[in-house]
Amino acid sequence: MKKGIHPEVKLVTVTCACGETFETLSVRDEIKVEICSKCHPFFTGTRKIVDTAGRVEKFMKRAAKAKSQEELKKRKKKH
Ligand SMILES: [Zn+2]
Repeated sequence: MKKGIHPEVKLVTVTCACGETFETLSVRDEIKVEICSKCHPFFTGTRKIVDTAGRVEKFMKRAAKAKSQEELKKRKKKH
């Protein structure tokens, strides 16, 4: 590998809005996230599910879609 063209990867601390911090490898000095595995409702609500073959990802996509549709309905119907 040529020197100078590859960004330096280092251990950085990721800070979540919930206060959780964890370390990861990145080229950035600092990472801030709004949600992490500790505060995401999916993880806090159903911790028992074991991710197999991306099923959790599929579920989360479906859940996110369902939620957005629910909110659209709420906006349309004003009782
Ligand atoms: Zn968090």
